[in-house]
Amino acid sequence: MSVRKLILTFSLLALAAAAWGQRVNSITVPGLDGRQVTFPVYSVPGMNNIAKADLANGTILVNWPRLMRYQPSSQLIRLMLAHEAGHLLHQDLSADREDRADYFAGRTLRIEGYTSRDMAIVREDMLRILGRGDSTHAPAEERVRITMQGYNSVPSRPTRQTWNASSSSPVNRCASHPSHLTKTFCVFTTRSSGGTASIRLLFLLNQAIGMRGG
Ligand SMILES: [Zn+2]
Repeated sequence: MSVRKLILTFSLLALAAAAWGQRVNSITVPGLDGRQVTFPVYSVPGMNNIAKADLANGTILVNWPRLMRYQPSSQLIRLMLAHEAGHLLHQDLSADREDRADYFAGRTLRIEGYTSRDMAIVREDMLRILGRGDSTHAPAEERVRITMQGYNSVPSRPTRQTWNASSSSPVNRCASHPSHLTKTFCVFTTRSSGGTASIRLLFLLNQAIGMRGG
């Protein structure tokens, strides 16, 4: 899996975002009780933040064009979406809600089989992209620490065989993935080492209006 292919895919995503203002993705994470939960992700190009959890509606809002300008790794994007999913699950308005969401995001990536090498990439991106923090967000270094706490809170276990990309190419598997959506894009990162599960980021791009809750 080449980096070039990854960049190309992100470029396509950026173009697609520009072409159809309303991009609809979704993210599925292991919820607080261990069951998988899925949240819709909406593109809001004009938004002030990069990403935001809409607690009232149970949706995640992302300013994709703004996010892409930072050239984030796919690992960071996954972490960011998991962070927002954490907000939706916690439904928390307390002062430490950001810390809890960071912890949840780190925990999620561990459960999903992200390796320590992936986390090194995440750390690099966090330090590069996140600033000194604000009234609710801790400085980047602190957020890295909390994220890793969440990551390390889950004991390691064998990687999931279903994500082993040896049998078919990720792109083919993506294309054959059952979906009611009109457009589906998959982004895969490189596998960290032979035999380890690939990290998967599935972006569902939906240009049809009204196809919600998919
Ligand atoms: Zn947050």
